[in-house]
Amino acid sequence: MHDTPSDRTGLAPGWRWTNSFATLGTDFYSPMATQAVAQPHWVGVSASAATLLGLTPEALQTPDWLNILVGNQTAPGSQPLSSVYSGHQFGVWAGQLGDGRAALLGELTPPPDHHGVAQEVQLKGSGLTPYSRMGDGRAVLRSSIREFLCSEAMHGLGIPTTRALSVIGADHPVYREQPETAAVVARLAPSFIRFGHFEHFCHHNLHPQLRQLADYVIDRFYPACHTATTLNGNAYANFLQAVTERTAKMVAQWQAVGFCHGVMNTDNMSILGLTIDYGPFQFLDAFDPGHICNHSDNQGRYAFYKQPNVAYWNLYCLGQALLPLIEDQDLTIAALETYKTIYPVAVDACMAAKLGFPEVRQGQRELADDGLRLLAADRVDYSIFWRRLSHWVHNRENNAGTQDDSVRDLFLDRDGIDAWLLRYSEHLNDIPRGLAANLMMKTNPQYVLRNHLGELAIQAAKNKDFAAVAQLQQALERPFDEQPQFASFADFPPDWASGISISCSS
Ligand code: AMP
Ligand code: MG
Repeated sequence: MHDTPSDRTGLAPGWRWTNSFATLGTDFYSPMATQAVAQPHWVGVSASAATLLGLTPEALQTPDWLNILVGNQTAPGSQPLSSVYSGHQFGVWAGQLGDGRAALLGELTPPPDHHGVAQEVQLKGSGLTPYSRMGDGRAVLRSSIREFLCSEAMHGLGIPTTRALSVIGADHPVYREQPETAAVVARLAPSFIRFGHFEHFCHHNLHPQLRQLADYVIDRFYPACHTATTLNGNAYANFLQAVTERTAKMVAQWQAVGFCHGVMNTDNMSILGLTIDYGPFQFLDAFDPGHICNHSDNQGRYAFYKQPNVAYWNLYCLGQALLPLIEDQDLTIAALETYKTIYPVAVDACMAAKLGFPEVRQGQRELADDGLRLLAADRVDYSIFWRRLSHWVHNRENNAGTQDDSVRDLFLDRDGIDAWLLRYSEHLNDIPRGLAANLMMKTNPQYVLRNHLGELAIQAAKNKDFAAVAQLQQALERPFDEQPQFASFADFPPDWASGISISCSS
């Protein structure tokens, strides 16, 4: 452990860099050095992520921090490293991957009086690593802004995610389909370990390392697994079950809010059940269960409605990787099977809240499914439907007798939605007044990061105007609050939005 000298880093004394992942040894990573870029400049800073580290945006926006978070300067005490992992990509074993463009700076621990929480700090796009393969180790500005905004938007929605402290642009050329410029996102998480880390060591028959990695994760994040008496008291089976549970709950939240991840490869699955690696993701505009948000996903493997099954498939890959430690196939399967009970329970709970029900009700699943069928048939805007329904319930409770057609106006099938609203009203009748609307307003967001909103902010940022990034972030940080100054962010997407094509190119 090293104290960080305040004169060199702009940090007040007391913030410490450590790196517990590095203590695993060099079978798990390669030390590396980030590569400098010219003219770094702040594109966005998350005040809320900074608070996690006990920092204010002002304390963060110093030249020293700028240089540290873009990779131009190594913070004294940090030991940048890139970790090795493997994984299944689009259902196929892809072999060794690793942090091809990410540098783990270490864990930053704020002083006790700053009310922060230790976080790992990882730079994405900070240059070549030993795992860069054919890549350049860089990330472009557009995808970095998307990751930055979406990380913070997901947090605002209450969905587990890695966080984004900052996005920093640079006058550094990067070549994709056309010349672009580089940017670096500083991500925060308790750990960036993925399913693919475990698959890596299992695949290479490195069982002592596999055990070391599992013990590391269990000790730090799943300590209850050591003493659990379920699953024959097998700690590794309990670990698998706990990851299964967290993953199921995370995906249930994705489905409820209409989030499509786009690249659910096993190397993009967090062992902590966090949403990680924002690429061609999309929040649904018109509701289409078969929506494919990744232009490169020709088979539609990661279509919206397939996400729950894909997560289960990915958990099976993790189970396979942990089998040498669990040493019992039946226990492994038993741990994974919990997905089949936890996912439906989790999604029902999410839908209950969206409908304003304090708890899951009899007939609710049919009600929700029938509602979604109507949405799909008329390609109704998903977020606008739920928000309008929340207001409709509010008006129903407060202005009884006044006609409110805002929900039915979204549909071509007026008879269908009228019948559905009538059915829904019967459920609402025995819920105490005010409760349903209140719950719905806190569950159905006014603001989600629609593709076209991100696109507009990106276009402005390419011209060095970062105001739109900041405004969007501000709106998305509190997605359930009306914030009249940002009302336009809650509008229907423009016609050109459906033409936006987001591929894996980033
Ligand atoms: P992703 O599809 O972003 O999850 O990336 C899959 C793998 O490719 C990971 O190992 C990344 O680190 C690596 N990768 C993606 N883009 C680059 C790049 N520009 N340079 C080096 N490695 C990359
Ligand atoms: Mg990835």
